Amino acid sequence: MKIHEFDPLLGREESLAVLSVLSANWLTEGPKTRELEEKLAAYVDCPHVLMVPNGTLAIFAALKVLGIGTGDEVLVPDFTFFGTASAVVLTGAKPVFVDVDPYDFTLDVKSAEAAVTDRTRAVIPVHVFGQACDMTSVLTLAKKHGLFVVEDAAQGMGVTFGDRHVGTFGDIGCLSFFADKTMTTGEGGALFVRDESLARECLYFKNQGRLHRGSFVHDRLGYNFRLTDLQSAVGLAQFGKLSATIARKRALQTAYYHRLEDCPGLQIPRANGFGETVPFRVNVLVDNPAGLAAFLIEHEVATRRFFYPLHRQPAFTPENSILRCPPVYSVRAFERGLMLPSGLNLTEAQVSRVCGLIREYQEAAARRADQAEAEQEMLTGCPQTT
Ligand SMILES: *Cc1c(COP(=O)(O)O)cnc(C)c1O
Repeated sequence: MKIHEFDPLLGREESLAVLSVLSANWLTEGPKTRELEEKLAAYVDCPHVLMVPNGTLAIFAALKVLGIGTGDEVLVPDFTFFGTASAVVLTGAKPVFVDVDPYDFTLDVKSAEAAVTDRTRAVIPVHVFGQACDMTSVLTLAKKHGLFVVEDAAQGMGVTFGDRHVGTFGDIGCLSFFADKTMTTGEGGALFVRDESLARECLYFKNQGRLHRGSFVHDRLGYNFRLTDLQSAVGLAQFGKLSATIARKRALQTAYYHRLEDCPGLQIPRANGFGETVPFRVNVLVDNPAGLAAFLIEHEVATRRFFYPLHRQPAFTPENSILRCPPVYSVRAFERGLMLPSGLNLTEAQVSRVCGLIREYQEAAARRADQAEAEQEMLTGCPQTT
């Protein structure tokens, strides 16, 4: 039986939640969405939470509300999901691709500072793979250069920097509740806002330029970025098992890493220690992730490569984006990283099977490397130096 790369944990709670919305006859944004916003606000300790249709639109909305657009530059880590930077381009501003830390793959603040110009208006730290960025350094940089901070906490549910939840440090925090995130509404997202008047601007923006529904009088221009109560009901069910999901994710990572500790040619990324982490996927670093992925899929085990560096994306061109200094570590992360199956209903036996296959491939690769070295020695009479 095929082992998927990811499966969410969906059950009776979600089914009943959807049915309750259907029988209440209220499908659009309403009481379930308000309830979810309130629960999230309490959980992350942030006064204003606004649900939006997805994480990419959360980032787009945050930038637009902060007045970012044509002529502006926004610092974005080169290693993140495409949506972090496409949201910038779609406002008319240009993302400036900045290198990341070699160990935790989050924004390298020194590289970010080197890319600042008088057109730079904002920075988007990404709490990638469920680990916080160094928010102290990000906030210092932002203050020094007068930049807005829009946090991409799409993978950040349950993640903290120190004892505060990610997404609550900057001007606006952006969450995603896509199907493979720590909690899901299918498609969905949220804005975390501390400042009351900024939160009001976000509401105008997402609610067709009105603060309240049920009126045909609109004070401003705005988009319709509302979520449906069908989705929020699923979110409430998911929120109910959030701590169990987080525990499950951590246990899965422990189970894998325990079995792979001494696997040849395989490196386990280490935690940066900034706060509580919630693994997005179980990640490993190897010399040939494409080869390992191909071997695993032959055995019906699906994996996923790391993010493709943004500056190499066909969609980003010198016309719509900026590269001031070629990144090294985003490329290296892509060239070495592999996300192992991290479905929330994986069994111990499945984890063992996947680890057995990984070990088989890595041991064969190590033997091939040894053999090549021995042949080289025989040919040249001296050890190969690289
Ligand atoms: C998922 C994700 C997004 C986009 O969220 P969607 O809800 O899929 O639009 C943005 N940034 C990161 C880091 C993500 O993982």
